[in-house]
Amino acid sequence: SIGISLLPDNTREPATLLAQANMAMQHAKHLGGNTLQFFTERLQASGLENLKLENQLRQAQEKGQLEVFYQPRLSLQADRLDAAEALVRWHHPEQGLLTPAYFIALAEETGLIVALGEFVLRQACRQARQWQLDGLASIRVSVNLSAKQLRQGNLVSLVRQTLEETGLPAAMLELELTESQLLDDVENAINICTQLRALGVKLAIDDFGTGYSSLSYLKRFPVDYVKIDKTFISELEQSKEDTAIIRAIIAMVHGLELEVVAEGVETQSQMDFLKDQRCDEIQGYLISRPVPAAQFAELLG
Ligand code: C2E
Ligand code: MG
Ligand code: MG
Repeated sequence: SIGISLLPDNTREPATLLAQANMAMQHAKHLGGNTLQFFTERLQASGLENLKLENQLRQAQEKGQLEVFYQPRLSLQADRLDAAEALVRWHHPEQGLLTPAYFIALAEETGLIVALGEFVLRQACRQARQWQLDGLASIRVSVNLSAKQLRQGNLVSLVRQTLEETGLPAAMLELELTESQLLDDVENAINICTQLRALGVKLAIDDFGTGYSSLSYLKRFPVDYVKIDKTFISELEQSKEDTAIIRAIIAMVHGLELEVVAEGVETQSQMDFLKDQRCDEIQGYLISRPVPAAQFAELLG
């Protein structure tokens, strides 16, 4: 990744020149690397925007601006809500309620994702335990992990500690990882997944079908669930190819004796098709959007 800034076009100060080149280099990395970028005024502006957002995100947690929403997962066979995905939201002081699309990438880049992920994990476990104590249906809660957390080294003890602290049975916690996160460092991922499963925690591969979807890896990763990415579901009615792909994924996942979850189910006909195909669970706006904890409890009642 190479960043370039020109003297005297952009500045006459050597130190500034270097900082600009560095900013351009960061941008080149951001674009996936193996490329070169020139410093521009716009880059400066978006850098400042990001810096502001980063500072605000840094304080978001202590200011109580982060909230965990829950989206139900419906078990098709039992026709019952049996799980919920924890999805973080940020009550931004100026911009209102923000979805992860606005801040997760920044959180990853800056390392803030580690603290954020810990917060979501603790909240979600506490909440699932509370629902259990309140006598509501038994709900397994699933939490998204970032690759950074996988590389942290203390993830397994963090999970063990959080379960102990909240009193949530391990089998009621599920952790979601995307294919690309798993493939980032395969041996480390397998090692950590094995330890997490030894605790009794369930594991899921998220957004399946969007990465390499390597079958040999799928066999090696000790997981319980495979979540088909919503892009396949949304085209279901129009695209013969997607229909074929979904059929194949479900057959393959069942062949490996794992369960399959479809994400992004928005219509009744999508649900009917998935039920026909013996898909195990569905998640999507058809059942409910992600909602605050109190509203989720109403869905159960
Ligand atoms: P994901 O894990 O694949 O979560 C599913 C996303 O699909 C959610 O977006 C959800 O609101 C959306 N969705 C659910 N049903 C439907 C539907 O029927 N139609 C459509 N069009 N979309 C649907 P959301 O909440 O914006 O989250 C986006 C992503 O942000 C998540 O994708 C996940 O990768 C990430 N994320 C969310 N919370 C966390 C977190 O606590 N930690 C980490 N590391 N990542 C998180
Ligand atoms: Mg997920
Ligand atoms: Mg997903």
